[in-house]
Amino acid sequence: MSGQKLKIFDSLARPLKDLRISVTDQCNFRCSYCMPAEIFGPDFPFLKQTELLSFDEIVRLVRQFAKMGVEKLRITGGEPLLRKDLHLLIRELNKVEGIKDIALTTNGVFLPKQADKLRAAGLKRINVSLDAIEDEVFKKMNGRNVGTGPVLKGIAAAQKAGLGVKVNTVVKKGANESQIIPLASHFKGSGVVLRFIEFMDVGNTNGWNYESVVTKKEIVERISEVFPLETADANYYGEVADRFEYKDGTGEVGVISSVSDSFCSSCTRARLSADGKLYTCLFASSGTDIRELVRSGADDQEILANLVAVWEKRDDRYSDERQEEALSGAGTGSSTGRKQRRKIEMSYIGG
Ligand code: SAM
Ligand code: SF4
Ligand code: SF4
Repeated sequence: MSGQKLKIFDSLARPLKDLRISVTDQCNFRCSYCMPAEIFGPDFPFLKQTELLSFDEIVRLVRQFAKMGVEKLRITGGEPLLRKDLHLLIRELNKVEGIKDIALTTNGVFLPKQADKLRAAGLKRINVSLDAIEDEVFKKMNGRNVGTGPVLKGIAAAQKAGLGVKVNTVVKKGANESQIIPLASHFKGSGVVLRFIEFMDVGNTNGWNYESVVTKKEIVERISEVFPLETADANYYGEVADRFEYKDGTGEVGVISSVSDSFCSSCTRARLSADGKLYTCLFASSGTDIRELVRSGADDQEILANLVAVWEKRDDRYSDERQEEALSGAGTGSSTGRKQRRKIEMSYIGG
């Protein structure tokens, strides 16, 4: 099977192209929209070390995913840079045949110590999450009273190490919408691409409701009033962010509009949790235990057959359904139990 790619599609004719790998469910922040401190407290039952997939197990699985068509990997968490020696995993993943691109999503705090090692291991680009420029707003957003200084230092360290940098900003109404223009202004012309993300109803703990979403339309209008924008083409099929270029040629911003303008029909992503469960949607209730299969002595062919079976069964389109319900006036989904449905948490699955 070496070098040969299978042509696999899910039940809605979507290929598998991207794999998001969570390497830990722990984090040094407590962002209110992701890991609210009152729920993720000192007694929260985080995964034990023995429950986590080892680097060897992850690499072995990625080899099978690559045979199914996966070309892009995103390493995430929790906070992925809390996983010891993460650069060693990146180095091994970089050698897997068929993998063309590896990216990492991080809150940036540990980048000053790790950026050079990550770059040397073959990482080319990172996304750093930063929800505000003003210290006071950011301290509230991250739930740990950390100012923007450590994250901005992390971004600078990444740029110095030669990593391509994008900044992700989740916008939550009443919390940090005041930061849209200051963030745009800060990163405009810096070579860093800023991407705003609509606040999503991932998990069951972040108190999400429609009213707290600032939509793509609103975000683009606000920026355009100060810095005129024009729409730009997607870089590739299935790109999650809509792109907008500053008319004065000083760069671009992106908006990920999972709520107001969903994109399930082109969703080519699977997600592997830190304890080896495979999820075919960010809003899934349950996953398939691949760790159990690996640790039970299954050979590569058996593992591949299981992964293929999961993907071929896939029919997820949660965000499209949410949007259809909203447009039909069915409210926030109580008729289908969407609000009640148990969903995996963002810090566990990694975004
Ligand atoms: N800790 C890392 C970080 O924050 O970049 C990686 C994991 S974090 C779960 C991945 C991304 O998900 C971050 O950019 C974060 O802002 C985003 N995120 C978390 N909860 C979200 C939510 N409810 N809606 C939209 N984006 C969210
Ligand atoms: Fe941690 Fe990232 Fe979640 Fe914030 S968004 S709590 S940094 S995992
Ligand atoms: Fe993909 Fe699920 Fe998000 Fe739709 S809701 S884009 S299927 S992860």
